[in-house]
This record gives sequence, C-alpha cells and structure tokens, in this order.
Amino acid sequence: MKGAAASTQRCDVSTVNLQTHEDVPDLPLYAAAPKVYPQSVHGTYRRIKWILLAVTLGIYYLLPFVRWNRGPNEPSQAVLVDFTHRKFYFFFIEIWPQEVYFLTGLLILAALILFLMNALAGRVWCGYLCPQTIWTDLFLATERWIEGDRRERILKDAGPWTMTRLKEKSLKHFIWLMIAWWTGGAWVNYFADAPTLVHDLATFQAPIVAYAWIGILTFTTYVLAGFMREQVCLYMCPWPRIQAALTDENALNVMYRHDRGEPRTSFKKSAVLRAKGEHPGDCIDCGQCIAVCPTGVDIRNGANLGCIQCGLCIDACDNVMGRIGRSPRLIAYDTDINVGRRLAGKANVFKPIRSRTILYTVMIAIVGSVMLSTLVERTNMSVSAMHDRNPMFVETADGSIRNALTIHIVNRDSNSRQFKIETERFGAAHLEAVGVPNGSDGWPIVDVGPDQIRELRVLVTVPAAAHPPPKQALIFKIIDVASGEAAEATDNFVAP
Ligand code: SF4
Ligand code: SF4
Repeated sequence: MKGAAASTQRCDVSTVNLQTHEDVPDLPLYAAAPKVYPQSVHGTYRRIKWILLAVTLGIYYLLPFVRWNRGPNEPSQAVLVDFTHRKFYFFFIEIWPQEVYFLTGLLILAALILFLMNALAGRVWCGYLCPQTIWTDLFLATERWIEGDRRERILKDAGPWTMTRLKEKSLKHFIWLMIAWWTGGAWVNYFADAPTLVHDLATFQAPIVAYAWIGILTFTTYVLAGFMREQVCLYMCPWPRIQAALTDENALNVMYRHDRGEPRTSFKKSAVLRAKGEHPGDCIDCGQCIAVCPTGVDIRNGANLGCIQCGLCIDACDNVMGRIGRSPRLIAYDTDINVGRRLAGKANVFKPIRSRTILYTVMIAIVGSVMLSTLVERTNMSVSAMHDRNPMFVETADGSIRNALTIHIVNRDSNSRQFKIETERFGAAHLEAVGVPNGSDGWPIVDVGPDQIRELRVLVTVPAAAHPPPKQALIFKIIDVASGEAAEATDNFVAP
C-alpha cells in the first residue's frame, strides 16, 4: 500500500524540530506531489454528482446544435458567437458590439451568484459544477473502468510493465484523447453554424483556426483533467483563496464532526471501551474518507484549501457507519457554529438568511433587473457618437468653429432602412455627413442595410458670429424615414 500512504502524506515542515544549523535536514526545494488514487464510492452525493455531470456535459456538447428561428438573413443557431458580424446570440437575445455592457453585467451577475452560493454552501461550485471537477471526474471514471479501482491501480502502478498494463494504459489514453478532442470540437461549434462546421471539419474544408483551437483545447483538456487534476485546484485556481476570505462561520461546509468522532479508535477497541462504559468517538480510523477524496485530503484535520467540498467523503463515511451500525453523517455539511453549539450541549442552528446573503440577493436582483429592463426597452435601432480627441475643434478661414465626430447608426431590423440625421440648430449650426446626400429639408439621409452598423464621419460647424460657449451639449437624433421611429445620442460641441 505504498501509494495509499503516499496519497495521504504531504511534506509537513512544521513537524521538523530544528535545534542547530547542523540539524537542518536535506529537504528538497521542490516536493513532488504524491499521486492521488481516488476510490469509487456510492451514495447520495455521488449520485448528485453523476446527474450534474451528465446534465452539464450534455448541455456543453449539444447546445451548439439547438436551433432558434430568428427570421431570414439571421443565423438559426440558438447560442452563437458570430465574430464575423461581431454579434453574440443567445436564444432570443442578440448582443451587438455597442452592447458589450450586457456581457459585463453577466460577469457581475455570475460573480454575485458565486458569492451567494459560497455564503450558503461553501465551495459547492468547485465540488459539483466547475469544469475542472467535471472533466476530472469523467477521466477518473474512464481510468477506473479500464484499470480498476484504487487498490488495483496502486498495485499495477507499483508493479512491472506487462502487456496487459501496456494495453490498458494505451486504451485509457486513447479514450482520454477522444474525450478531450470532443471537448475541443464542441467548443469551436459555438463560433460557427455547428452542423456546417462539423461537415467542413470532417471534409477538411474548415478554416485552419478551427483545427488549431481544437488542437489547443484537446491538449489542455487532456493535460488538466488527465494529469494535473487536483493540482489545478491546489495551485492554479484563485477561487479557493478568494473563497476562504469570503466564507463565514455560518456557511455550510463539508466537515468532520469532531464533537462526535473523537477520540478515534478501531471498531474492536471501541467495542471494548464501550463495554467498559467509556465513550470513544464514532470514527474508527478506517481511512475510507481519505481513500475516496479526489484531492487526497483528510477532512478530519479540519478546513483545507484542497477540499473542493464534493461530499464524496460523506458518502464513504456514511457507508462505513451503516456497516458498523452507527448513525450516519459523522462527516456532513455543517457549520463551525454548530460544532461549537453541540459541544456546549446546544441545538443546531442554520442561518441561510443573514446580512451577507441578503446583500448578495439584493445585488443580484438589482443587476438582473437593470439588465432585464435594458433588454426589454431596447429598440431595433440606435445611434452612438464619439468626438474626435485631437483636435477637439478647428477654426475655419471665415472664423467658424468646426467639430468632427464619428457616429454609428445601428439597424437591428432584417430590412434595409433610411434614417434622417438631425441635430439641434444651436447658433445656426450646420451638420454635414461626409459622403451622404442631404434630404429636401437639408438634413443628411443615410441608408443602413439589414442587421448592419453604418459608421459615418460628421462635421458640425457653427459660425463665429454665434459665439459658441466652450462646451455645449450636442444631441444627434436619427429618425426612421418610413416609420418615424427615433433614437438619440449626446456628445458635446467644443469651442475655444
Ligand atoms: S470514513 Fe468515517 S470512520 Fe472512516 S476514517 Fe473517515 S471519518 Fe473515520
Ligand atoms: S475532503 Fe471530502 S468533500 Fe473535500 S474534496 Fe475530499 S472528498 Fe470532497
């Protein structure tokens, strides 16, 4: 059981008693991470993890093939990042480049939801939903299926190379590479029409960048889920550090209930002690909770950065408790407060509603409502204006002041439209859109194609006699010539 021991040992310098310089042991600067051989386990949390694994992987691999009818000239893929037309489609939502704030809002919303999950149930994201956890679980299941459970794998790895072992290893790496390849293949499908891209990939007609991305993601999935596994959570991911700073004593976390488990004794010794009227703990020191842990953590030592809160040690310990006829949940989702309360002879309390969960919920509601109302209120046309930075204005030969701006007119309709561009005629201001003819009333009239953005250079000139102030609001209004629908954008007219 060399590997078994190795999987539970980390280099613990704090236990080394250094007296003199000569006592300094010859410790290596870098301690290789012991290989973890997680054992299979059955139970409630394992079942939840299998279900979530199937659902999330199903969504990831199949979502690009879900169709969504947006009408003619529009892509029919429900979720699509269209780099060519610089648009993002998500079912009925269509995000244009000018609306990138929606993506910012989504990221803020995702962070707040993560904080709320953490305040309620610790690293529930890490244990059940994080892609690293899900793909590692899938790779581990493949490994177990081919090479056997923990004990077999440890013995095989410690033994000599045989033909059988070589075949098993080859098959395992082949399947891992296939999973990794499908993962990369699914990813690129989010950036083009999926059925067409799959056909083009198969017939070697797809763009080279698609093959490159599949190659990169195949490699990263294979390495991260096949080899690095828990090392990603321990050394690469910032969330455990942030999470540790955000959690509090009321958050549910996977905990060893030491108030019930200590002192630990073997089952036989514990029976003898109980017969004598003594009160040993319920933990029989069987090590099953460590054996099943995908990160090699001994949860009995308390909160640990390596614990991804997957709950598998709860299943393992519950199975042991069931076999020896003791109550389950010696390891359980619990809070520090409750451990303290039980030791003081008080009843458990759970406080899901507290100041931080209320704060996160309110913030989620605010950001969500702002995004929703912006989505509902947005029209199928818009205009934005951007003033030239240098020079801010020019003085023409007749003393007039001229400002140059760039405006973008967005037509989100599936038909071509004509827009009239107007601005306030303060100080007899004159508006000219470069390369665009004026209508009968003197304002420029511009054609914008279906689902297109038209960029225009506009010049606003105010005669010197008008004495424009150094800064004045400049409102651009675009009016759909056919429907009369209008949209506005504001910038400034700058003068000396
Ligand atoms: S599985 Fe339960 S009984 Fe066994 S060592 Fe872990 S905590 Fe103790
Ligand atoms: S200690 Fe338990 S909950 Fe934490 S990672 Fe290991 S098995 Fe999962």
